[in-house]
Amino acid sequence: MPVIDCHGHYTTTPKPLDEYRKRQIAALKEPAQAPARDMLKFSDDEMRASVQSQLKFQRERGTDVTIFSPRAAGMSHHIGTAAVSLDWSQVCNDLIHRVCTLYPDNFIGVCQLPQSPGVRPDNCIGELERCVKELGFVGCNLNPDPSGGYWTDPPLTDRWWYPIYEKLTELDVPAMVHVSASANPNFHHTGAHYINGDTTAFMQFLTSDLFKDFPTLRMIIPHGGGAAPYHWGRYRGLAQDMKRPQLDELLLKNVYFDTCVYHKLGIELLLKIVPIDNILFASEMVGAVRGIDPTTSHYYDDTKRYIDGADWLSDTDRRKIFEGNARKVYRLDRVTGRHPVLS
Ligand SMILES: [Zn+2]
Repeated sequence: MPVIDCHGHYTTTPKPLDEYRKRQIAALKEPAQAPARDMLKFSDDEMRASVQSQLKFQRERGTDVTIFSPRAAGMSHHIGTAAVSLDWSQVCNDLIHRVCTLYPDNFIGVCQLPQSPGVRPDNCIGELERCVKELGFVGCNLNPDPSGGYWTDPPLTDRWWYPIYEKLTELDVPAMVHVSASANPNFHHTGAHYINGDTTAFMQFLTSDLFKDFPTLRMIIPHGGGAAPYHWGRYRGLAQDMKRPQLDELLLKNVYFDTCVYHKLGIELLLKIVPIDNILFASEMVGAVRGIDPTTSHYYDDTKRYIDGADWLSDTDRRKIFEGNARKVYRLDRVTGRHPVLS
């Protein structure tokens, strides 16, 4: 059984990419600082070297394929204009494509979108189409809060977002709802802003008829669904109080959760609360938490161990989590022809 990790970021990019971004940001005030794309002409060897840690973790942990996207905090949609965001997204997406081309067995691409606060996401359609149609990507990361922690744009369920949903539906690819860096000092980015974003998206979906308008739209809420599984009773009760349908009818045909929860009991709660058909294996490595848990002597983000340890899971359920659900949600049948591990 191939193990598909649906949530990995390219956090180990070659150093000149950071310099490119620094100059791009400096150019907002001093246009002469604007970087040239020539800075980013990395050799295949440089590209290969940059993902060796990712590959080592795949081998050591027994995972096969990572659905791979640009660094989430690096998207920083709150910085600069939509034009800056587009340039940065193209650069980052092209690097993902290079990694996926060099290691087609190990990585499948997902893109960053050129979102910008206050700009309707129509501006993302071109880059989404390019990534899916030309680069062979299987989805995108959609930032519910391009302002970086100030939530200045309408909720994900507002018609503001509908053009991007129409395109996702047409292309038949899912979006992972994924915030970026926090510009608000109240919210630590991975500890608070990420989990807030996940929980907020879930509640927005619960209160809307978005999935009546887009019955085939698929959204993945990462980081185990934020606080949603832990507070499942609250959300079921709120839906009931609001005379909304039950959660399974309301959103569980469209909303999925990943397993980026970094302790055994947390993942077991997820597996017992959320229907197995809605859970996709993921680790988010190399990413949010990089250390080793002294109580287990294993990496916190080695999430496969927690699922392997849940011995009450049936083989069928385990296969769905590790493989089947990702194939379904990302429509991986489209890439299996060119993908030896998944064929
Ligand atoms: Zn992530």
